[in-house]
Parts: sequence; structure tokens; C-alpha cells
Amino acid sequence: MNPPISGTTMVAGVAGAPVAHSLSPIIHNAWLAAARIDAVYVAFAPPRERFAAFAEGLRSGAVRGLNLTVPFKEQGLALADEASAAARRAGSANLLLFEPDGRICADNTDGVGLLAALAAQAPGFDPRHAPALILGAGGAARGAAAALLEAGAPEVRIINRTHARAEALAEAVGGLVRVFDEVDDRALCDVGLIVNATTLGLGGGAGPAVSLGAAPDSAVVMDMVYRPLRTEFLHRAAALGMRTADGLEMLIGQAVPSFAALFGVPPPAIDVRGLCLKALEEKA
Ligand code: NAP
Repeated sequence: MNPPISGTTMVAGVAGAPVAHSLSPIIHNAWLAAARIDAVYVAFAPPRERFAAFAEGLRSGAVRGLNLTVPFKEQGLALADEASAAARRAGSANLLLFEPDGRICADNTDGVGLLAALAAQAPGFDPRHAPALILGAGGAARGAAAALLEAGAPEVRIINRTHARAEALAEAVGGLVRVFDEVDDRALCDVGLIVNATTLGLGGGAGPAVSLGAAPDSAVVMDMVYRPLRTEFLHRAAALGMRTADGLEMLIGQAVPSFAALFGVPPPAIDVRGLCLKALEEKA
């Protein structure tokens, strides 16, 4: 159980629109309770057009920090006074810290989450060994591309419905990013990793229409979508005998450094994945 709320209880949270579905309060409050930290982690849903005013108001220090989810990640980076290299590379922030001197510091821990999910669910996978293919060119794809290149991927390939957005991602991240057409199986023939960073598959629909059979059997397939946990895309990959990693593990992976930044200590080792699975089942 969390300690009782008192005059010294610290407040942190997540902001999104919508945000009621977020699993972050479950994860962070479970860690806070296990670590006996006098803090609470809540969800905020500011109106989209008033996000900047909402976040600016927190410079007063009322809230220690905020995780950000759709649609506030880009705006969050824009209003920060300082940004980590990861946030700048990703072009978005999933964490804002409100410092005692009034500064807002932005970070992006999604890339850490992606690599943590791969380490946990595809042990032995090494991003340095083969090109990675990312499906999508939004904020999550950009963060993933930057993190994989930082981790030593020899090339990152992008396929996106809107070609111009893929080109913009390649230009922003730079270096070893190549854009392919949606129908081009040559993008898959020698990859070590395929990541769904689109919203396709959310709510149980079909995943991205790439022919996974064109990729080596040894490739790992990761889906950032985690509602449902086993997406159509992951089912298709598993049916081909490929190893898979899921979006829930990535969510937990990004929460670990967020918790440490917000509360000053690493989270305790408890089974938050089990709690999230239960919540997903209840909401299904
Ligand atoms: P975003 O910026 O809105 O980008 C959405 C992407 O999905 C774009 O590439 C978009 O293509 C594509 N897309 C949407 N509808 C499509 C359709 N009908 N057909 C083909 N492509 C379509 O969103 P984001 O922030 O990057 O997030 C992407 C996904 O990753 C979301 O599902 C999000 O929940 C998930 N995510 C998960 C985690 C985690 O921890 N597990 C973290 C971050 C994000 P266009 O450019 O053509 O519109």
C-alpha cells in the first residue's frame, strides 16, 4: 500500500489526450508503494490547445515531473529550456522535469525502453549485426531510429504510408537512414529487426502489410502497439517462427529511467508486467 498522502507528498504524473487508458499510473504507483516513497503518480488530460499553458504553470514546482504521451511529446520538447541528446535526436520528449529553479528539462526514454524490451524478450539480439527496418515515421519511429543507430545499427530503413514523412525522418535523424517504398521486399531481405511503430494493429486490427516471409527467420519482430498484447503482426511473426518483443515491455522499459529521474532512485524489482497484464485483461 502507498504511504498516506500528507503535507510532504510529491506529485508526478503522465499527460496525454486521451490518457485514461494509460498504464503508467499503475506501473509508477506500484513502484512507489514497494519503495515506500512519499509520492503519488496521477494522470492529467489537459485540453490539447491548452497544453503549453498547463505545462508552463508547472514551472511553479507543484509537480516534480510529467511523462508525456500522444499528442504532447513534440510540444513538450518545444517548451523545455533544456533537452537531453536523446530528446533532441527523437524530436520529442516523453519526460519533463520541473526543476526547483523554474527550468523545464526534457528527456526521451522511449529508445531505452525499446532496447530494454529487446534485451528482455529477444536475449542475444545485437542491433549492430544487421540493418533494422522501422514501419512508421511518427515520433516513436524517429526515437527508435535514433536509439538503434546510437546502439550501433549499421543501417535503419523506414517504410511509411506517407513517403514525405519518411524522408523528413531520414533528414532529421541523418546518417544511415534509408527510405523504402511500402511494397519493396528488398527492405526486408537481410534485416535483424523489424519494428512496427505505426498505430496499425491497435484495438485488434490488421498490422502493417509487409511480407514478413521476405525477412530472415532469425529476424526479431517488435510491435510498439500493446492493445492487444499479442497483435496480429506478432501472431504473423510467431507463425513464421520468428522471435517477438511486445510494446508492453517497451512501456515498462521507458518507465524505469523515468522513475529514476522523477524520484531519484531506481524502481524496486517487482512484477509490474503482471499488474499491467491484469489491467489490460480487465479493460479488454
Ligand atoms: P504518430 O506520430 O501519430 O505516428 C503514427 C504512425 O502510424 C505514422 O507513421 C502514420 O503514418 C502511421 N499510420 C497511422 N495510421 C495508418 C494507416 N492506416 N496505415 C498506415 N500507417 C498508418 O504516433 P507515434 O507517437 O509515433 O506512435 C506510434 C505508435 O507507437 C502508437 O501506436 C503508439 O501508441 C506506439 N508507442 C508505443 C510506445 C510503447 O512504449 N510501447 C511508445 C511510444 C509509442 P503517416 O505518416 O502516413 O500518417
